[in-house]
Amino acid sequence: MSKNLRIAIQKSGRLQEKSVNLLRECGLSFSNSSNKLKASSYNFPAEILFLRDDDIPQYVEDCVADIGIIGENVMIEKGKNIELIEKLNFAKCRLSIAVPKNTPFSSMNDLEGKRIATSYPVIVQRFLDEKGIRADIHEISGSVEIAPGIGLAEAICDIVSTGSTLLSNGLREVETVMKSEAVLVANPKLDEERAGLLEKLLFRIKSVKTAENNKYLLMNVPDEAIDEITSILPGMKSPTVTPLNMTGWSSLHSVVNENDFWDKIDQLKSLGAQGILVIPIEKMIL
Ligand code: ATP
Ligand code: ZN
Repeated sequence: MSKNLRIAIQKSGRLQEKSVNLLRECGLSFSNSSNKLKASSYNFPAEILFLRDDDIPQYVEDCVADIGIIGENVMIEKGKNIELIEKLNFAKCRLSIAVPKNTPFSSMNDLEGKRIATSYPVIVQRFLDEKGIRADIHEISGSVEIAPGIGLAEAICDIVSTGSTLLSNGLREVETVMKSEAVLVANPKLDEERAGLLEKLLFRIKSVKTAENNKYLLMNVPDEAIDEITSILPGMKSPTVTPLNMTGWSSLHSVVNENDFWDKIDQLKSLGAQGILVIPIEKMIL
């Protein structure tokens, strides 16, 4: 019997929906009802396991699941024997130290001998060791941001994305401990068949990621500007140029990266491009 790739994703929480969407965009179809523990993919030899994110590293190490999607912060905190395969570009956040907004803070030295509440004791301890600071770490599993207010700690280390939760709890962010995003992790000793399935899935994930970072561009351009426009829009090989039914004008199609998207648009406009259409790309196979 041929094997399934067992993929562990978060059962509910911040990673759940995007993990499901990513697998779907990779062509796996499966039912996603929140009360199920498992689902089979109909069209790719995979089984999806819905678990608490904190448990996923252990399950992947123990070969209960072959691969998983978790936050990089959880991967590092748990310190299991699992391999980071690919960063996934979502659930971007940072782990930061925060103190009550009126507490003076000039450097981490100010936390010497103080109490820090966190759900990430391993990461915080490592950070303190690097800085040569001794402080008491108080591990709590949730609502870390209320710890200073109830007298449990002088500082916290918690996940921050916009900082609004800190602000509404009268805290200010003073130091970034690590940056994190969702990552694909795998058991380092997959058998050949499952390693092959992972490779296939990874190829699809990369195609989805590349597509997300690129846009398809269509525009009308004056013929005399084609050379210059081509030089700023190389596309995947070179742009497609087809003549319009109007002398002196052509239609030009290309692909542009999100990072320098607006710069390119400004340049195109100044070179006389008109009617610029920007279209999302679903997959991009390089
Ligand atoms: P549970 O264990 O009950 O599933 P949790 O608090 O561990 O809950 P989430 O809050 O869903 O789980 O967070 C899961 C992961 O998502 C975190 O480990 C982190 O990597 C990421 N994350 C958490 N908060 C944010 C945020 N505000 N913005 C972006 N990513 C975040
Ligand atoms: Zn969790």
